[in-house]
Amino acid sequence: MLKNSVLKLVNNQLRTCVIFNFHDIVVDGKPVRPDQLSVATFRQQLSWIQQHFTIVRIDTLVELFQANDINKPMAAVTFDDGYRSHFDLIKPILDEFGIKAAFYVSSAHLNNDYYWHDLVETFCQHSSAEQQNSLEQVLNTLKRQQRSSLVESIKYLPLSDRAIVLASIENMAKPLMKERLLMNASEVLALAATGHLIGGHTLNHPILALETDQTCFHEINDDLQALEALLQQKVTTFAYPNGIPEQDFSLKHQQILADYGIKYAVNTHKSVLTKALNTLSIPRINLFGANESLHCNYLLRMIFKSVINSAN
Ligand SMILES: [Zn+2]
Repeated sequence: MLKNSVLKLVNNQLRTCVIFNFHDIVVDGKPVRPDQLSVATFRQQLSWIQQHFTIVRIDTLVELFQANDINKPMAAVTFDDGYRSHFDLIKPILDEFGIKAAFYVSSAHLNNDYYWHDLVETFCQHSSAEQQNSLEQVLNTLKRQQRSSLVESIKYLPLSDRAIVLASIENMAKPLMKERLLMNASEVLALAATGHLIGGHTLNHPILALETDQTCFHEINDDLQALEALLQQKVTTFAYPNGIPEQDFSLKHQQILADYGIKYAVNTHKSVLTKALNTLSIPRINLFGANESLHCNYLLRMIFKSVINSAN
């Protein structure tokens, strides 16, 4: 395909470096939410990435990039939120492709079955209009900002308010959560034992910018300490929950990580790596769907944007 060839030419010329980000994946045939991919689409995306980039672990990629030692297009792949699919479905595919990745885990969830947003999705699917209206009222009393979906509204509540809302839907939605959706500690250990990198993602996945300095310190430090106690090794990488720079975290959160000794922290700002790289706020890209032509357009747009920005 012409677009693939154009991307190959541009990539080779500019020796592009990209970090790709994924969340949950589900077995083929199961309905997918916007942040999920089916196994077939994930395989398609991974093989497309492998066609265009040499894939290494994020710590290796950033070290080479900082040392100005990149002589071909390179990428790293990362997975957020510690879903069970990371162990059950993704690990075998990574083994087959010969890829080592980074997995960002919220340690307070290691013994939980699901995230709060999985509970809210279940509530939305199964609740009556009356039940949804009463939840809207709870949200309104908490003076939520106007956002498009229930998950988005609750995401931007501080942890204390989030707990109030979740308590009001637990009775209805909790009995419907039948299967464990998140990895347990032994699955995380098994990923680490096979050469994958495990990184921090806070204890409870708050939007750090909404919390007090003290809560942020506790959410970051206690999470990293819990992971280090589990893994019996130093944790060197971290992903900011939701990860939009300035909106979801700021310089003071980067400082907490620097003080702890974190070397690589990733965000969700969509960009390829650029010369102005801040290793405590590293951008990542995610691909959507299975359309190679769209992937090419998207990557080319990202590359040209970075070229224009670095020329200014
Ligand atoms: Zn997350």
